[in-house]
Amino acid sequence: MSFPPSATPRSDVRRVLCVHAHPDDIDFGAAGTVARWVDEGLEVAYLLVTRGDAGGFDDTPREQMPKLREAEQFAAAAAVGVTTVEFLDGYADGTLTPSLQLRRDITAAIRRYRPDRVLTNSPLRRWDHLAGPGHPDHLAVGEATTCAVYPDSRNPFTFPELLREQGLQPWTVREIRHAGAPDPDHVVDITEQYPRKLEALLAHVTQVSHRDEFDASIRARLADTARAAGLPEGRLAEAFTVVSAE
Ligand SMILES: [Zn+2]
Repeated sequence: MSFPPSATPRSDVRRVLCVHAHPDDIDFGAAGTVARWVDEGLEVAYLLVTRGDAGGFDDTPREQMPKLREAEQFAAAAAVGVTTVEFLDGYADGTLTPSLQLRRDITAAIRRYRPDRVLTNSPLRRWDHLAGPGHPDHLAVGEATTCAVYPDSRNPFTFPELLREQGLQPWTVREIRHAGAPDPDHVVDITEQYPRKLEALLAHVTQVSHRDEFDASIRARLADTARAAGLPEGRLAEAFTVVSAE
């Protein structure tokens, strides 16, 4: 299967909402790009569907995990200049589906933040690389968020209780960035932002503190992405798929 090329990224974006399944998803896939957006003056907010309660690798009491991971995500966001971080309630790590409930909760967030661009996981599975992007929670959030962008958040007759009970007016998001999609072709040079991305990743202590040579392994992956896109040797990059949502 082949994919059409990404849309040209919009140049008039002011606000971005990043919607992901677990604490650390944004930081592995996109923290360098988020840091660039913040540098360029964009407002960026995070919406996490779960608190990552199935994560971790040691004997930390399970009931402590949601609080720990919530705090880690706030610290990671601060490392790239993001201060608005919201978590949905009622969703358990490992159980997500692109349900109407999830679409409604994400629609409510889109109507509150009114972003021009939404960054989320890809709803498409990669057959060359099952782990990571292919986590069922990632695919579910990618699908639910894409449905929330079109048509849910822009249609006043979808989830009418949001308008009736909370006064949340319809809102049209104009661009989606998918992370973890098959054949991503929009490449962002994050060489200058890499120290902040690494700081964000290291804030997820429960997830990364056991990994040897973490910096080198992350750097190698970003260098591969840059090289494959034809950037000069020594550059680091993150890659996405850009979809016009107009
Ligand atoms: Zn994840």
